[in-house]
Amino acid sequence: MIETHLTTELADLAAAGLTRRRRVLESPCGPIAAVDGREMLNFASNDYLGLAGNPEIARALAEGARQWGAGSGASHLVSGHLAPHEALERGIAAFTGFPRALTFSTGYLANLAVTPTLAGRGDAVFADKLNHASLIDAMQLAKANGADVQRYPHNDVAALERQLAASGARNKLIVTDAVFSMDGDLAPLPALFALAERYDAWLVVDDAHGFGVLGAHGQGSLAHFNLPAAPRIMLMGTLGKAAGVGGAFVAGSATAIEYLLQKGRSYIFTTAAPPAIACALSKSLDLIEHGDALRANLFARIAQLRDGLGGLPWRLLPSPTAIQPMVVGDNEAALALATALWERGLWVPAIRPPTVPKGTARLRISVSAAHTEADIARLIGALKELS
Ligand SMILES: *Cc1c(COP(=O)(O)O)cnc(C)c1O
Repeated sequence: MIETHLTTELADLAAAGLTRRRRVLESPCGPIAAVDGREMLNFASNDYLGLAGNPEIARALAEGARQWGAGSGASHLVSGHLAPHEALERGIAAFTGFPRALTFSTGYLANLAVTPTLAGRGDAVFADKLNHASLIDAMQLAKANGADVQRYPHNDVAALERQLAASGARNKLIVTDAVFSMDGDLAPLPALFALAERYDAWLVVDDAHGFGVLGAHGQGSLAHFNLPAAPRIMLMGTLGKAAGVGGAFVAGSATAIEYLLQKGRSYIFTTAAPPAIACALSKSLDLIEHGDALRANLFARIAQLRDGLGGLPWRLLPSPTAIQPMVVGDNEAALALATALWERGLWVPAIRPPTVPKGTARLRISVSAAHTEADIARLIGALKELS
């Protein structure tokens, strides 16, 4: 049977308690999720500003579909680059301060466009060990293209410098998450930028979790650290998290973006996103830029949660972002805690190895500007009760 080895592997996963299942939501993304006829308080989504259910954005999407139809019909370079895509690119460039930006249907595709396009034979990639899976896959593609790839211990600037100093590569790329997805901590971007300058390297920054959240006007992690929109920085941001819609962008110098447009296979060989998505995203960008009140609420909720969880037996990682991981340690214990919360109407995902290192299974609490003070108090109360 052609499927025999698949069945065996699926059984192995089940035996290890690692089978994953999807929950079907019977409500839009928001602080309350209807699941199996129950109302769950949702701490699982990446909708950090609560924009996924925003009616103004939904209206822009509907109006965009009315005006521009359902599909783009082709890739950007053939005939799928419509006026709303162009307007969104310009809006993102202006907002991030880079000369130019390209948009993609997903962050996964955006990451696949950058590293393997900039690094091939004779080049070297230096990547943080805790980078997102899409950056890891991008790095593997660069390796298949002949690049030398090296990973440095998480946020270890000294180790990275040793690798850079020892490399004879023609073209070097430092690749990092700006906010790490399972830890919520920040990359030391100013130190990484200084190394990029010293060793004449590119700095590729994945700001999936910083864009819209950190820095003045939610411009992201570069703004948070007051870093310039320098030509050696390639900034990637996703538009399905804080921006609440879907898609991604890469922003950079006019030359670097033109190079991606000409050579990035995951830009070239895929159909452009529906133009209505670009209409919705232009509205979202506007709400982000004028969203200081949303961010103020988000950071107040984060502070409330961190205050409230002090003194519990589990270690809250020192995260300044909307991702608040609480390390339980043991896989079964983390799962049992998530299940006990679920039974109390609280949806907080347990994250286990191999997504996180062995012995650090955790709850990954995602805070949103849409959460109320009472929502956070309810989660704190339940965790205290379960401790
Ligand atoms: C979510 C995420 C991505 C992928 O973005 P999608 O738009 O969901 O494909 C890339 N990098 C990081 C760090 C992410 O968290």
